[in-house]
Amino acid sequence: MTPPPPTSSLPHSLWLQEIAGDQPDAPPLSGAITADVAIVGAGYVGLWTALRIKELEPACDVVVLEQGRAGYGASGRNGGFVLAWWPKLASLTRLIGPDEAVRLCQASEDAIAEIRDFCDTHNIDADFRQGGWLWTATSRAQFGAWDALLRLCARKGITPYQPLSPAEVAARSGSAAHLAGVMETKAAIVQPAALARGLRRVALERGVRLFEHTRIRRFTRGRPVTLVSDAGSVRTDRLVIATNGWAASLPELGTSLAVISSDLVATAPVPEILGRLGWERDLGITDSQTMVDYYRVSRDGRVVFGKGGWTIALGGRIGAAFDHSPERTAEVTADLHRYYPALASVPVTHAWSGPIDRAPMGFPLFGRLGGREHIVYGVGWSGNGVGPSVLGGKILASLALGRRDEWGTTPLIDRSQGHFPPEPIRYLGAHLVRAAVVRKERAENRDERPSWLATRIAALAPAGLEDKK
Ligand SMILES: Cc1cc2nc3c(=O)[nH]c(=O)nc-3n(C[C@H](O)[C@H](O)[C@H](O)COP(=O)(O)OP(=O)(O)OC[C@H]3O[C@@H](n4cnc5c(N)ncnc54)[C@H](O)[C@@H]3O)c2cc1C
Repeated sequence: MTPPPPTSSLPHSLWLQEIAGDQPDAPPLSGAITADVAIVGAGYVGLWTALRIKELEPACDVVVLEQGRAGYGASGRNGGFVLAWWPKLASLTRLIGPDEAVRLCQASEDAIAEIRDFCDTHNIDADFRQGGWLWTATSRAQFGAWDALLRLCARKGITPYQPLSPAEVAARSGSAAHLAGVMETKAAIVQPAALARGLRRVALERGVRLFEHTRIRRFTRGRPVTLVSDAGSVRTDRLVIATNGWAASLPELGTSLAVISSDLVATAPVPEILGRLGWERDLGITDSQTMVDYYRVSRDGRVVFGKGGWTIALGGRIGAAFDHSPERTAEVTADLHRYYPALASVPVTHAWSGPIDRAPMGFPLFGRLGGREHIVYGVGWSGNGVGPSVLGGKILASLALGRRDEWGTTPLIDRSQGHFPPEPIRYLGAHLVRAAVVRKERAENRDERPSWLATRIAALAPAGLEDKK
């Protein structure tokens, strides 16, 4: 595993700041140890996998290795939207067939309740609020973003979405910039870092061995696998790779992943303004742009506002631009003020970024690395990993333990979603497409017709949280 340059130990994430110092760091790996299963990466995916393995086989010796602190990657920096896969039902159907697609979308919806129950059972104060997801249109070009999906759901007799009148959408979101929308009622929001740290605590309680500040520099491919860090090594029978966008540096996965940033800002607490606007505080809200805007309210009444897709990693190298970027902060803040002019004079107190591991069709990639049964991976969450990582833990645990159960045989495993072009074509092409998306969406936001060329090139961008209309 080629090491990425170090990420700063404390990005400017509001969420990470809120939990800083909550638990003492685990020691770095030193010397040579052995394990039954080693997991690289202590985000949601690695930690849910560790917990699931302990649930299935309590005696299994599970070691988790993390280059920074558990939860300080995407899991501690995200928007905290806990969403299902329903908005991608059509593409999931194309990928794995109609019955499995509905089953997995339903399982992803059930995962939202599982997170709630897990927090309740283990006393994790992650500010879980199941107020629903308001999926909106903020320009006329976005109208109809969900129409095909609603028709598909109706044909299948499933009803994840509640239609709303334009007046209701504007009222609930607290802004007339929202022109239309539908509501997915089972969705939730959470303090994402608190959830990750809760998982960490419970994993330690269950006997998982965690080594932090331990970057895995390389690992052998034969069985047993040897993982090497600066000061130690692990000899393990099975390996789970749960390293999000960092996995793009593995030769086996390089063209299956593209790493893009998502960028967020948080304002000072503004409970009175939110009250005046009428913004329902338990809602997660998004627009329908390709470079999606997503926003919600924190426990103490801050607006947390994010935007996807602003920078792209060359060859999967995740540098400091994935922690924070002043230029992108300005872009995100401009969108925040466009939707909520009443916040224009409110200070932005936090601004941060993180890496998104985009897979070609937007679903996580589960599989056996180079066909090896003893090295499995679960990466490519494509910006929707808070809820679905619960399923990821089940799939990866079954894969690692060689179980042919419902999760160990899901058709997502070893299912190709196609490939991105190799570098440097991917990097250059992605910039070209991104520039076209920006031009197109800016024109649409002005209610102007974008140029033919921008529209054609922008159409090459992979779909985001939702299938394209
Ligand atoms: C800014 C942002 C906003 C997002 N918003 C949302 C949202 O609102 N809702 C949603 O569902 N999803 C969202 N996502 C996506 C979601 O956060 C991720 O899908 C999810 O956290 C993935 O979990 P993970 O465990 O795969 O990754 P991570 O939490 O990144 O964990 C991977 C870990 O691997 C470690 N690692 C990497 N390489 C090595 C190595 N060589 N050795 C040791 N350790 C290593 C990293 O340090 C990291 O901690 C967002 C992501 C970002 C970045």
